[in-house]
Amino acid sequence: MKKLLITIDGPAGSGKTTVSRNLAEKLGYIYVDTGALYRGVAHEARQNGISPDDDAGLERLCAHIRLRVIKTDAGTRLYSGDTDISDRIRTPEISMMASAVSARPVVRQALLDIQRQLGAGKNAVFEGRDMGTVVFPDADIKFFLTANLNTRAMRRYKEFSEETNQAFEEVAADMKKRDENDASRDVAPLKPADDAVFIDSTNLSVEAVVAEMMGKVAEKTQS
Ligand code: C5P
Repeated sequence: MKKLLITIDGPAGSGKTTVSRNLAEKLGYIYVDTGALYRGVAHEARQNGISPDDDAGLERLCAHIRLRVIKTDAGTRLYSGDTDISDRIRTPEISMMASAVSARPVVRQALLDIQRQLGAGKNAVFEGRDMGTVVFPDADIKFFLTANLNTRAMRRYKEFSEETNQAFEEVAADMKKRDENDASRDVAPLKPADDAVFIDSTNLSVEAVVAEMMGKVAEKTQS
């Protein structure tokens, strides 16, 4: 069967992670959450006292950092060197820091090759912000998944509020700020690829979104 590379881009809280994981599982494909890589860089920058506007510091960091995505029984984990940082990268501070470092060309360039290597010749689902526009412009199927801000913030609030203690209003404000950063940056801004299939998940269940995507996969594999 033809090896497909599928990309899913969209703003924070649009359901990319859940949907990508489900779709990959149904298809028996690998799944790569590229946001985790940017979060990993942000985490290591913070640990090393490197500010998001220190390009020389970020470049040095990216040259020696060793981020590894490892599949375990407890799910896919992100390691920096020998340390599992998967849980530490999910805080509101790291979300904001990831958005800041991801606007720096040195960081995007460093992660570009890693992402392409992870996808080379594979049946894979990649989720992020620039998968269909920059990293894999020749992907077989591209989706752009979105939902209105209130819905996206509510999803994030329900998922993480116990750990982060953030009020709903704070979650929504952070998300709006991150969307603005991600969509307005000069390099690889968040935007749909010209040939992306646009899906608004505001009033759709995860199952409905995945079913729509499976329909596109069927069209592609039969063509
Ligand atoms: O997807 P997630 O919210 O975990 O991503 C964290 C941040 O990483 C995003 O706000 C965005 O700034 C950045 N990112 C990116 N390009 C990607 C994936 C994530 O710029 N492909």
